[in-house]
Amino acid sequence: MTRHEQENFPAVTSSPLLLRAAPLALCAAMIAGYPTMSLAAETTATPVEAAAGAIFAQPSALPFQAPDFAHIADADYEPAILQGMAAQRAEIAVIADNSEPPTIENTLVAMERSGQFLTRAYGAFSAMVGANTNDRLDAVEAELSPKLAAHGDAIYLDSKLFARVKALYDKRAELPSGGEEARLLEVTYQRFVNEGAQLSDKDKLALSAINEQLSSLGTAFSQKLTEASKQAALVVASRAELAGLSDAEIEAAAAEAKTRGAEGQFVLTLVNTTQQPQLARLTNRETRRRLYEASVTRTTRGDANDTTATIARLAELRAEKARLLGYPDYASYAMYDRMVKEPVKALEFMEQMVPAVARKQAAEAEELNAAIRAEGGKFSVQPWDWDFYSEKVRSAKYDLDDAQVRPYFEISRVLEDGVFYAANLVYGLTFQKRSDIPVYHPDVSVYTVLDADGSELGLFYFDPYARPNKQGGAWMGNFVEQSRLIGTKPVIYNVLNIPKPAEGQPALVSFDDMITMFHEFGHGLHGLFASQTYPSISGTNTARDFVEFPSQFNENFATQPQILGHFARHWQTGEPIPAELMAKIDRARKFNQGYALGEVLTAALLDMKWHALKPGRLKNAARFERQALDSLGLRIDLVPPRYHSSYFRHIWDNGYAAGYYSYLWTEMIAHDAFAFMLDGGHGVTREGGDLFRQKILSRGNTMDYAAMYQAYAGRQPRIDAMLDARGLVEEGAK
Ligand SMILES: [Zn+2]
Repeated sequence: MTRHEQENFPAVTSSPLLLRAAPLALCAAMIAGYPTMSLAAETTATPVEAAAGAIFAQPSALPFQAPDFAHIADADYEPAILQGMAAQRAEIAVIADNSEPPTIENTLVAMERSGQFLTRAYGAFSAMVGANTNDRLDAVEAELSPKLAAHGDAIYLDSKLFARVKALYDKRAELPSGGEEARLLEVTYQRFVNEGAQLSDKDKLALSAINEQLSSLGTAFSQKLTEASKQAALVVASRAELAGLSDAEIEAAAAEAKTRGAEGQFVLTLVNTTQQPQLARLTNRETRRRLYEASVTRTTRGDANDTTATIARLAELRAEKARLLGYPDYASYAMYDRMVKEPVKALEFMEQMVPAVARKQAAEAEELNAAIRAEGGKFSVQPWDWDFYSEKVRSAKYDLDDAQVRPYFEISRVLEDGVFYAANLVYGLTFQKRSDIPVYHPDVSVYTVLDADGSELGLFYFDPYARPNKQGGAWMGNFVEQSRLIGTKPVIYNVLNIPKPAEGQPALVSFDDMITMFHEFGHGLHGLFASQTYPSISGTNTARDFVEFPSQFNENFATQPQILGHFARHWQTGEPIPAELMAKIDRARKFNQGYALGEVLTAALLDMKWHALKPGRLKNAARFERQALDSLGLRIDLVPPRYHSSYFRHIWDNGYAAGYYSYLWTEMIAHDAFAFMLDGGHGVTREGGDLFRQKILSRGNTMDYAAMYQAYAGRQPRIDAMLDARGLVEEGAK
């Protein structure tokens, strides 16, 4: 579809059993007194006031146990997380040392109950580090990251604890099949094995050392990238060089320069991706080239924020880790719990798209070169020109530009009359805005989500606007995860990076940002509809190549006529978006898909190549990337990867290692599932929604994903609907 999707970071778990074990997590870990490793340093290094962090010791007294941001101070997080880890270690020690024979209740269920103090603290902390950070919280994150990794190791490498889990696993045939217990046992056992529980003591120590280094390097990468992106912002001296941008954008660039002590100049800040949004509009080719160069070289300048050595070390350590655990490469290891379980299957899925994408890219480049020649240009299209000329061709061909569209997408209308309305139409949900829940920033709003029968499902926080102290992209997370065992309902947040309008101006969002709002809320629904007993298999705690399915599925509702017609109204006149404009948008969405799909496909294939490395094989990170890209059969000189390796945060610090293909895989499933909903799945109706909720959205990780899909659609997903949506069917058939 459109570019925004790949900006989205994963749903973030705060479940302590998943913290570092699952590839899903920014999150840290699980816990237990690992006998050969001293954890004393963590608990005694920093004397803290008795009260600091105590706010997380008990569940919040607020509705839904929502974090009490009115009383949480920055100083609370570190002591609370340290104390929370210590508390969970003690809880786990009791389980491991139990003299009774292992039972589901005294082992698995007890583990699921453990770590709630840590979960509460870490849930709030990880949200703040992502959405509202500062130097102090960044420092705490760097400090805690290896400790949380060690905490996870201490649980998963605890041989007494593993012996109990293994004893249960060996008798798994006695459990009722298809139940949550059987799945929890399977998932927990596999996680132990893949965390190294069966290794010798010597290898366990080696693994712990690798894990701690990986964690620190991941954090170091992320912090370097954030700083590099800030430093590499393009500074231009004159307004003329910014021709093509709106007055508001130029004013924002002037304001940014002022905050950086460069008053009188203009600063264009960088987003995460290779391509920068302003490239579509900057008429000065030299400014475009400079902005593009700033973007692609941000982390390879040989300065303190150069990440080349960091990623080489990360790749090498991951390869060593996989070898230690008995896998041929890191990709094979990382995919053990996925819907697609083998790297070769993911590669096949992607490689089957390459010929159609290559043809489409060649045709697109030809079209752009024709546009350049038509205006007298004596050059052929380069990556920094691509968006500018494709925007020209798009508006010539479709007579459509973003400025025509935005007035119909006023943010509160998109949210309440669009995103929420769709959830009402399809699932019967209603939403009540509330003002009594403390928020961490004044831009955040909170809603109670009510089920069709009027019962309370959970809380939803909406944090839409870009801030300098927010990570780029958009994501969803839980402050509180649903669990019948713990007695908790979901408390969910969506974070986006929509430019904040100037005081008194309406917040008009782009078409892509509008779709992103539906996307993130799709994750929200996956969390809100969770109906599990056990927190570690609840809601969005699903595989990397499944978790984006509900969110991408939810995007489809945005353009359904009865939903679009309800929210897409002119912010001043209230006129609905003209059908003709919408038809143009629809056609335009299929435009430029050789580029859009190509940059994602390239990044996904690059990710797989990094993680198919054998230990000791990497000589030079820059050359490795060049060779990997050259081997794909695509025009990388025209369509560079959406992220070059040196700033590919997803794979180095966001749990997408050997998993970036997931965006394409889940897009395929999401399109197929929606096609099924329209044709056989009861349509865009309450019936259709209830079926999807019952079979998919409420299931968490309680069954094999392929079986779950089979139960919904009666078959496995097919690629046709995705290729059709991308406008590639005809190309592929040529
Ligand atoms: Zn997503």
